[in-house]
Amino acid sequence: MYSVADIDVDICGATKCRLCTQFCPESNTILYDSVRGTAYVAVDRCKGCEICVGICDDLAKHEAIKMLPIDKVVDGFEICKVGFKESLVEAK
Ligand code: SF4
Ligand code: SF4
Repeated sequence: MYSVADIDVDICGATKCRLCTQFCPESNTILYDSVRGTAYVAVDRCKGCEICVGICDDLAKHEAIKMLPIDKVVDGFEICKVGFKESLVEAK
C-alpha cells in the first residue's frame, strides 16, 4: 500500500493559491480546476514524494494537502481522468 497526496478542496478553494502546481516534479499531477478554484491531484500519476505537502504547509501556509493511503482516496481515479464532475457540468 502506498500513499498519495489528497487536497482538501474546501481549504484550497478558499485561497487564491496555485503554488503547489508549480512544484510537483511529476507533470500533469497537481492540476487546477479554474471553475471551483482549487487544485486537485491526478491520483494515478502521484508518486507520493510529499513535496507538495511541504509547499502547502511551509510556503503557502494553508495546510490543505495530506498524504492518504491510496485505498482511502474517494473517487480518486474518477477525479484524475475527468476533473471534478461538477466543474465539467458547469463548464458545458
Ligand atoms: S499550495 Fe495548498 S492552498 Fe495552494 S494551491 Fe496547493 S493545495 Fe491549494
Ligand atoms: S506527492 Fe509528489 S508526486 Fe504526488 S502530487 Fe505531491 S508533489 Fe506531486
